[in-house]
Amino acid sequence: MPDELSSRPPQPIAAEAPALARPYIGRFAPSPTGPLHAGSLVAALASWLDARAHQGQWLLRIEDIDPPRCQVGADRVLLKQLQDCALLPDAPPVWQSQRHAHYDQALQQLLKGGLAYGCACTRKDIEDALAASGQTRARHQAAVYPGTCRQGLKGRAARAWRLRTDPHTSQIAWQDRRLGAQQQDVAAEVGDFVLRRADGLWAYQLAVVVDDAAQGVSHIVRGADLCDNTARQILLQRALGLPIPGYLHTPLVLDARGDKLSKQHGAPAVPTEGTPAASAALCAAASALGLPVEGSARTPAEWLQRWVPAWQALYSPRHG
Ligand code: GLU
Repeated sequence: MPDELSSRPPQPIAAEAPALARPYIGRFAPSPTGPLHAGSLVAALASWLDARAHQGQWLLRIEDIDPPRCQVGADRVLLKQLQDCALLPDAPPVWQSQRHAHYDQALQQLLKGGLAYGCACTRKDIEDALAASGQTRARHQAAVYPGTCRQGLKGRAARAWRLRTDPHTSQIAWQDRRLGAQQQDVAAEVGDFVLRRADGLWAYQLAVVVDDAAQGVSHIVRGADLCDNTARQILLQRALGLPIPGYLHTPLVLDARGDKLSKQHGAPAVPTEGTPAASAALCAAASALGLPVEGSARTPAEWLQRWVPAWQALYSPRHG
């Protein structure tokens, strides 16, 4: 008979409040899979404004850890587009492709603590194990790893590495500064997720957590399409003993068909060459954020200065 403790559903564990004593450091972390489009400019602008509204620093990180998805030269184009828009970082940008040793160190730390494990399963092994256990899933829903290699590899060779989630501690509750209270049970909804992939590439979840901590990022402002990753990242921050940043996820920009703009789906580059184009691009991004865009004949830098108090009024730093 299950004892009282284990039969009780696990309670959500609140993420610690962001450490307010830490100096504000924000960042924009684009993947160079193509030039900046209207949607990514919204995240860039919002993260810049939030940093300025907190009198903090704003950093840039190029997330080029997935070479098959990256476009040669896209990093230079992104940096130029940001510069055209007067979105200038307070320190030289960091490239994730230079930081493999740090990701490896984090993985070793997790393995040593028994918080990660090697996994020998192919995609087919996972599908077969899920089918055998009668688990079905919606067509586009990612499979929850059935845990085949949790107890060891049984002589098979590790292909990937996964975080070991614990159903008693994997219910993550956190506060998004725009979307409000959020909650996810990572063990039940995502499962033991990949930290290093079978093709040897580092997973976004591990790299982003290691780098945000290394750069001292205290506040993350990014597109709402990334919101679903936050619980996994908080779980990893806890597992690695890293501070938990504050989060704000910005509204998504949709195309004429109502789909999210994305580089993979060919969203056009936002034109930023010359003051009128850069100002127009910034105004479109600002308007998606609910900021005032009336008036004209301003340079990008003037528009930015004008929006800092408006941003402050909408997403007051007092709230995180
Ligand atoms: N590199 C990610 C992207 O371009 C963003 C990562 C993040 O902001 O956490 O979608």
